Amino acid sequence: MRIDLHNHTTRCNHAKGSMESYVNRAIELGIDIYGFSEHAPMNFDKQYRLSFTEMNDYVHDVKQLKELYKDDIKILLGYEVDYLKGHMDERVLKSEVDYLIGSVHFLDKWGFDNPEFIDEYSKRNIDEIWQEYFNAIEAMVKTGNFDIVGHFDLIKIFKFMPKKDIRHIAKNAFNAIKQSGMVLELNSAGLRKPCKEIYPSASLLEVAYELDIPITFSSDAHAIGQVGFKYDEVQTLAKKIGYSKAVTFEQREKELITF
Ligand SMILES: [Zn+2]
Ligand SMILES: [Zn+2]
Repeated sequence: MRIDLHNHTTRCNHAKGSMESYVNRAIELGIDIYGFSEHAPMNFDKQYRLSFTEMNDYVHDVKQLKELYKDDIKILLGYEVDYLKGHMDERVLKSEVDYLIGSVHFLDKWGFDNPEFIDEYSKRNIDEIWQEYFNAIEAMVKTGNFDIVGHFDLIKIFKFMPKKDIRHIAKNAFNAIKQSGMVLELNSAGLRKPCKEIYPSASLLEVAYELDIPITFSSDAHAIGQVGFKYDEVQTLAKKIGYSKAVTFEQREKELITF
C-alpha cells in the first residue's frame, strides 16, 4: 500500500493546482491513501495559510472529493498545524479531522525555512539554533495535540549544520515522541531543498527505528508534480532501515498497514 498524508492546496496561497488534479495524480501514481493537510489557520503569518473563514469550504471540498473518488483512492482530511506558543487555536485543535500534523516553522517569530530570512543563521550560534529547534519539537509533541511530527529535522533545510551530533541534539524530542505515541513522517520535500535529504535523515530514522517509533509517508506537495515525490526512494530507505509498516489515520485513530 502507498500512502501520502502531507499535501497542500491553493488555499495556503503558496501552492498550485486544483485539489482534484492532485487527487488524479495520486491515483495515477497508485497511491492508495491520500491526505490533504492544508496549513491550518492561525493569527500569525496569515498570508501563507488557510483563513479561519475558509475552513468550512476546505473541509467541504475534501469530503466531496473523498466521496467522488471513493472507488479509486481513500482521501483523508487533515491539517498541518504550526506549533507557535500563544497562537494555538481551539478551532483547529478541536476540529473533526483524520489527523493533525504538528510542525515547527518558526523559532520565536523567525521563519527559519523561508529563504528571505536566511541571514539569521549566520548571526547566531548554529548549535544553539538547532537545539532551540528540537526543543520546540519536544514542546509541540508534549502538548499532546498532534498525531504526526512534520518534517522532523526541517532546520537542516539550507544546510547550516551543527557541530554537535544531531542525534544528541534531538534526543529529548525523540523521547517525547516515543512517549506520546506520535508518528514520524518521512517527508520527501527535503530532497527538493538545498539540504537534498529526506526529513528526517537516515541516521535520525535509524534512531526512530531503534525506539520503535512508527512512521508514515509524505510528499509535502505544493504542486501536482510533487505528489508522491520520490516515493520509491523514500520507501526503499525505510525498508533498508528495517521498517515494513506505516501508519494511516481515520478520525485520529491509528492503523498500521504493510508497505
Ligand atoms: Zn507550505
Ligand atoms: Zn511544513
